[in-house]
Amino acid sequence: MPDSSKFAGQSLELLLSRDQIRQAVEDMAAQLSERFRGKCPILIGVLNGSFIFMADLVRALDIDFEVDFIKISSYGSDTASTGTVRLLKDISADITGRDVIVVEDIVDTGLTIKFLRNRMQEAGPTSVTFISLLLKDEVAKLDFPLDYVGFNIPDRFVVGYGLDVDQKLRGLGPIYAFKEN
Ligand code: 5GP
Repeated sequence: MPDSSKFAGQSLELLLSRDQIRQAVEDMAAQLSERFRGKCPILIGVLNGSFIFMADLVRALDIDFEVDFIKISSYGSDTASTGTVRLLKDISADITGRDVIVVEDIVDTGLTIKFLRNRMQEAGPTSVTFISLLLKDEVAKLDFPLDYVGFNIPDRFVVGYGLDVDQKLRGLGPIYAFKEN
């Protein structure tokens, strides 16, 4: 287990505890289960950051579902958005006529989720639902609402629970923000 209070000399500040995250994931899973009762939605996880959230979310659902993944790059190895979105791995499933749930770890500028929305709509699904564990609500410029959000967070770079800094620290259970010095 890495020391979770420091990374490359920078301090980390606890933002969301394991319990807070667990509660939010269970609440959202309960709402999704109600909404899709009797249906079989396909959950599309946005790699890499959403894999832990996705794993916890699906295990808390009590309906039938399928999963698939899409891989997008919007950040390089830096901690600021590059402003461009690249599709690194497309979905494999045919989502035409399906209820699709896009599972994001975090929405920052909103660029990635807008790209995903266009990609999904091209394929003619029955419905597209967006769920994100985290939303930087002061920064995100969205022309459509997200259906489910776990937490609105300030405009700070966060790590843990699947979220990385330069591919590291994804395994931290809680979510931490880099401390402003
Ligand atoms: P957006 O396109 O909304 O600006 O950025 C979305 C993507 O940027 C997320 O899926 C995530 O990969 C990355 N990202 C945005 N903010 C953060 C952050 O605070 N921490 C980490 N680790 N990744 C972030």
